[in-house]
Amino acid sequence: MKHDTVIVGGGLAGLVAGISLQRAGRGTAIVSTGQNALHFFSGAFESLQEAPERLTTLFDEAGIRLQYTPGVRLMPLGTFKEAMLSLEDVALFPSPKFGRKVLIVNFMGYHDFFSSFLAEGLEKQGMHCRIRFLSLPEMDQLEKSPSEMRSVQIARTMDRIWEKVVQEVRVLLKDEDTVILPQVFGLQDTSVPGRIRQGIPARVVFVGTLPPSVPGIRTQMLLKRRYEVLGGTYLMGDEALTAHVHDSVVHSIVTKNLDRHYLEADHFILASGGFFSKGLRSNPFSISEPVFGLDVEYDEDRNAWYQKNFSADQPYMQYGVKTDETLHGIAGGVPLKNLYAIGSILGGTHPELGSGAGLAIRSAFAAVDEILTSKTE
Ligand SMILES: Cc1cc2nc3c(=O)[nH]c(=O)nc-3n(C[C@H](O)[C@H](O)[C@H](O)COP(=O)(O)OP(=O)(O)OC[C@H]3O[C@@H](n4cnc5c(N)ncnc54)[C@H](O)[C@@H]3O)c2cc1C
Repeated sequence: MKHDTVIVGGGLAGLVAGISLQRAGRGTAIVSTGQNALHFFSGAFESLQEAPERLTTLFDEAGIRLQYTPGVRLMPLGTFKEAMLSLEDVALFPSPKFGRKVLIVNFMGYHDFFSSFLAEGLEKQGMHCRIRFLSLPEMDQLEKSPSEMRSVQIARTMDRIWEKVVQEVRVLLKDEDTVILPQVFGLQDTSVPGRIRQGIPARVVFVGTLPPSVPGIRTQMLLKRRYEVLGGTYLMGDEALTAHVHDSVVHSIVTKNLDRHYLEADHFILASGGFFSKGLRSNPFSISEPVFGLDVEYDEDRNAWYQKNFSADQPYMQYGVKTDETLHGIAGGVPLKNLYAIGSILGGTHPELGSGAGLAIRSAFAAVDEILTSKTE
């Protein structure tokens, strides 16, 4: 099986690269083991404020709307952080005191949405909060088992019964100017959050819940769908195991499911994420990248990997694979000519590309540009 480019990892970085290459007429395949950081996504793209035009186009075509206004965003525990480029369902405000009276609505038996913390945080800003719980017969089945009362299961139900939620909130609403709801709407039907806003005569704000993240999973689904519509091959649930490399050129990769049918390509992209997604692995003595055996930037002294203060910034989060300036992965000190590393597997080694989702997107575009302008080996 020969492609123009094979991408290892189908998270944000891999999908942005895959869609961009398909749009440019290149035939690609993405191999991805499964869960990625988007499943935990807050909806805000760290280190990006304005969206590069090519990102807006790519997301628009996938049905994903972005927004940015300077100010703050409301976090799930009632604190505020600086606003970033965000999915349209993330609430951004010019300042933390965005309202006068707030009605916070949760669902009976749902513990992954922190209404009391939110109320406490907002009251510190001088807002008056009232918390109410909805009990809907359609959720009885979910309520019977706590493991079913999770954001994605609730979101599936909400896609069907959101109009009923609107009616119930309208009954609860007194003189509040703002209604806060958990971010469990619009998993399949992306028009639902907007229709809820239209149906409730107050400012409606959706606030994040414990993972899985409904906006993140929706973003992943829409990007994957767009990639496949453009003709990309997404090998879901497969794992890249190792690569065949000669004279610093990668020829093919071996995957778990394809066995001896190697995936050959002119170019390869490594977008397998950091420790969280097993793009990087560690043992008590070393940190490694398992597929291509790329060199990893990390401190030889294991005690320097982490800080004892659990909540401090941990140095190991900055570790990533070594690359040259054009993101070619380096193995044994030598750049591999047709392999590019992108996304969180880079750690903090490319500060000029930003961090978080900003790093994933900027590095994906940078690698795509390299591929589109490079001569095939
Ligand atoms: C829990 C969590 C929450 C985050 N939230 C935010 C946020 O809200 N905002 C923000 O800006 N940033 C956030 N980040 C930072 C995040 O790293 C980036 O936003 C971005 O989504 C990372 O994308 P990625 O494609 O580089 O990696 P990932 O999303 O980690 O995707 C890597 C993919 O590669 C797959 N993979 C790994 N090894 C192999 C293999 N051998 N073969 C095949 N597939 C493989 C994994 O299964 C995974 O699907 C978060 C990170 C984490 C860990």
